[in-house]
Amino acid sequence: MIEYRLNGPASQERQRIRLMAALRENRFPQSILIDGPAGIGKKALAIEIAKALQCSDASHRPCGHCFGCKMATDIGVTDNWLIPMESAEAHTRSAASVSAGSNAKTIEDFKQAYIEEIFKNPYRVDVFGAGAEISVGLIRSMTNAFALKGDRVRVVIVAEADRMNDSAANAFLKTLEEVPPDTYFILTTSSREKMLPTIRSRCLALHLLPLSDDEVRSETLRLLGEDVDADDVTDDVVGLSVGSPGKALYYVGTGKKWCDLAASFVKESILAHYTELFRMLADAEVDEVTEACRFLEVLSFLLSDLLRAKSGAKLRIPATTAQVNIEAFPQIDVNALERAVSVVQETMNRVSSRRTAPPMLLQSLAIKLFEGYK
Ligand SMILES: [Zn+2]
Repeated sequence: MIEYRLNGPASQERQRIRLMAALRENRFPQSILIDGPAGIGKKALAIEIAKALQCSDASHRPCGHCFGCKMATDIGVTDNWLIPMESAEAHTRSAASVSAGSNAKTIEDFKQAYIEEIFKNPYRVDVFGAGAEISVGLIRSMTNAFALKGDRVRVVIVAEADRMNDSAANAFLKTLEEVPPDTYFILTTSSREKMLPTIRSRCLALHLLPLSDDEVRSETLRLLGEDVDADDVTDDVVGLSVGSPGKALYYVGTGKKWCDLAASFVKESILAHYTELFRMLADAEVDEVTEACRFLEVLSFLLSDLLRAKSGAKLRIPATTAQVNIEAFPQIDVNALERAVSVVQETMNRVSSRRTAPPMLLQSLAIKLFEGYK
């Protein structure tokens, strides 16, 4: 009997056991949808599965060195992936239709650059730009490639599958309705609710869990390599990442900025020092929707932590929470904090709706945050 062994963090072992059993019993579904929070390793698991399905070793799969394993991890085999792309990239010509000797970048070149990034660090949450999507053209080139079928098992990893636009989703659904023999689709998403229900229902659902804090710390250090001091992966960075090494990597770089700003924002808002507060916001350059949302996320984390402090619960971002020194403001009680959490949530919704510029919304948040408790 062939033994299957998918590698990954201990926190996700239960999900992998399910998959390994299906592989061993030769009943692996032709399409599977891995969902879970951003940056927890859904693509990493998809790559493990792709290797296991394509491996031809007689006893242990994936073996890591057979032809199938090599194909599954070769960044040049761009047919293995369906990924979101910027419209200009998706409209470049295919290598097959470019004349020999041409220097023009092909769609495969762009795709390969993304795939290379994924292999370097499958946890990264910012590989694709905000405007990138999976277009119907990309789905068509995938199905065209199916016509050139060789005799090997084919696995297509669909990264961030929720980024299919409507026509792409409908075209993909048709493919799922009649999956070619020996072909497997592994879809990943952190926004399952944005996908067509008809696509979801045709895939086996696999909900991947966040990592433990210790795993986040060790994975983050491993990915950062020698460029980083272990002290940079602080408790607050791990706390903010909520089980996601991808988010931790982001916060190692910018977490301190958002944490410091959030702590000052809370203090100055209680003290009604608006001039200083508005100047701080201007200096922090939170003009973009994405930036403003990151800041509001951290602010919301901080307020929840201040609530936890009231009940003596364990803090997620202890250093930032201590910066506020909430004992100095006895009027800020549990009610004030609970109200503040919902005011931040409201602002986050308004920022995401993109109707008003983020700086305006943040200024009015500063005034409203502890209204009635100042
Ligand atoms: Zn192999």
